[in-house]
This record gives sequence, structure tokens and C-alpha cells, in this order.
Amino acid sequence: MELTFRGIIGQKKIIDHIKRALSEEEISHAYLIEGAVGLGRRRVAKQLAMAITCMNNIEKPCHSCSSCLKAVSQNHPEIKIIEGDGSIKIDLIREIQKEIQLKPYEGKRKVIILYDCETMTLQAQNAFLKTLEEPPLYATIIMITVNSGSLLPTIVSRCQLIKLNPVNERTIQEYLVSHEGASMETSKVIAAYSGGNIGNAVKMLYNQDFKQKREELVKITKELLRGSLTNVLELADFFTLEKREVIENLDLLMSWYRDLLIYRETQHLDFIRNYDKIEEIVLQSKNINTYKLQEVVYIIEDAKNKLKSNVNFQLNMEVMLLNIQEVLSW
Ligand SMILES: [Zn+2]
Repeated sequence: MELTFRGIIGQKKIIDHIKRALSEEEISHAYLIEGAVGLGRRRVAKQLAMAITCMNNIEKPCHSCSSCLKAVSQNHPEIKIIEGDGSIKIDLIREIQKEIQLKPYEGKRKVIILYDCETMTLQAQNAFLKTLEEPPLYATIIMITVNSGSLLPTIVSRCQLIKLNPVNERTIQEYLVSHEGASMETSKVIAAYSGGNIGNAVKMLYNQDFKQKREELVKITKELLRGSLTNVLELADFFTLEKREVIENLDLLMSWYRDLLIYRETQHLDFIRNYDKIEEIVLQSKNINTYKLQEVVYIIEDAKNKLKSNVNFQLNMEVMLLNIQEVLSW
């Protein structure tokens, strides 16, 4: 029997593992899919559900039997996707328990997919434990979470854990080129910033904000090098937005100076993140020595750490920029 999982990027090891389990007819009664948002957890869950309910005996999921076609159109009577409203409370668990007792009327198996299990209340988890202990033979439960540590160990131990890992940069890059029509240059930059997360990468590709931010960032680094005090204080606005955004922007700034450092040390372009700004990187790296670059990276790290404490936001950013400028002007 051949198993064909489509559209899941860079998770070959996991897919192979699932395929082996299914081909040995060892369908587990409960799976727990763990991984960051954007790694394709829901996709894996749906494909797994599709494979479990598929009626083809040669390949699963076959993508062509009536069961698979219903699954593809999200219209399969025996695959239930359940999502809490902000959190998963005991009422929802009771509904699932009722649902699971209803025998599948089409096909042999029934699959329940439960999203965002990290939001399950303790009470809900305790109630759900009973279902996981004695599920009906025809039922498989697929739970999805960002963090299995947020669940009771007794829940986790009753599930087969499927852990999705970050995808390597090259795979993401190739995906962006082949599926999203991105240029080699753009896809290389985005893959480097995506943190191994295909969902993030696709989002970044279409996010005008991300593009604009990076343009702004290059301007800031030029200004810092030029060293006019008033301009530098105006630049602080870039960093005094929402806290989440500030961290992102500081990471962008950090990656810029890391690129300069790497280029200065290795003269190599392979490890550069800001691949589309090579000219500027080469230019700036000629003007800033290694010691200064290390200092700058340290200053940014320090400012980022201070965000965790109650230091005045604006002041923290201004001090950081002034310190960077001072180091650069030595
Ligand atoms: Zn099928």
C-alpha cells in the first residue's frame, strides 16, 4: 500500500512515520500534533484523517475515492473538526463525548480533530481524559497544540505524539519559488527570516509592511553611520510602536549588523540574511570594524533585554540608538 500525503512541506520524517504506522494498520486511537503555528499542523491532521477514512486499499489517502473527495471538500460526515471559542471548556468536551458515541454511518472509522488544545481548561482536560482512556474502537482523536507541556501528562501519554519541526531554509526557499512564484533573491531573504516556518514565510512574502520595514531599516543604518544626532532621535520612532513589533524591529536591526559581521569575517555571502541588500552590506562592512560590530550587536541585545523590565520604552530605544551611533563614530 502506498501512502500519499500532499501539500505538506518539509516534514518528510513525520510523514514517513505516519505512513509506516498506517501501513501496518496500526491506527492509533489518539494523536497529538505539536508544533508552532504555520508549520502545517492542521494540514497534517486533515491528511491523517483523510488517510484513516480512505476506502482505497492500495494507497491512502488516494485523493479519489468518495471518502477522500468528501474530505477534500471539507464535507466528510465522519471527520469532525472542532475549535474552541478562545478556550476549550468542559461544555465543548461533553459535545465531543456525545459525538464520539455515534457510530460512523459511512465507512468504518470516525475522526475527531481538536484544534488549539493548549487552550483546554484543566476541568476540560480531566473530562477529556476519560474519553482518551476508553475511546470507541472506530474512533480516532487528533489533537493539535503549540505546546504539549500545557496538557496533563496523562493526556499526552495516551496519545501518539507527532512533533512538527521547523523546516530547513532551502526547502522554504524552493517552495516560495515553485509555489508562490517568488524570485530567488526574495525567497532567500524570506526563508532566512521565516524561522523555519512555511506559514510565516508565505505571510511575509505578501506582507507589504515587512518589505517597507526592511527598507526603513537600511535607511536607519545609513543614518547611524552618518552620525547626525537629531536624525538619530527621530529614528527612535521606528522602534516605539507596539511591544511585539518593537521586538521584531530590533531583530531586524540585529540581523543587519550580524550580516555585516559575517561578511566582514568570512567575505562569504552564503550566510547573509539580507541577501537582497548585498551592495549596502559590503559597503557598510568596509566602514565598520569587527570590534565595533560586536559592540553594536551587544547594545541591541541589551536594549531587547531591557524591554522585559519596566524601563521607559522610548528612552530605552533612544539610548540604544545613541550608543550605537557613538560606537560607530569612534
Ligand atoms: Zn481515498
